[in-house]
Amino acid sequence: VDPPELLGLNKFNIDEEEPHILLDKTICETCKEKPCLVVCPAVLYKLGKNGEIMFDYAGCLECGTCRLMCKNKGIIKWEYPRGTFGVSFRSS
Ligand code: SF4
Repeated sequence: VDPPELLGLNKFNIDEEEPHILLDKTICETCKEKPCLVVCPAVLYKLGKNGEIMFDYAGCLECGTCRLMCKNKGIIKWEYPRGTFGVSFRSS
């Protein structure tokens, strides 16, 4: 099984009540580089029609890359999902 197929094996238990990642989108609008658009391996950050950041935490691989690469430190509120929520990595 090659790596892209392996990603498709992962299971997600989405916490609909408490997102584990929150953004301050008013600050995101002022960011010129927007590294989140290219660093997220799950491609969860997208650019809207008006240049706004669109983000959905469902499908997050919990790698932490977006928080590390964000130019505006602290505006991505990032925690691991609660309890049994989040990604379960599968290899077969
Ligand atoms: Fe994407 Fe990783 Fe950030 Fe999740 S933690 S949104 S997978 S970059």
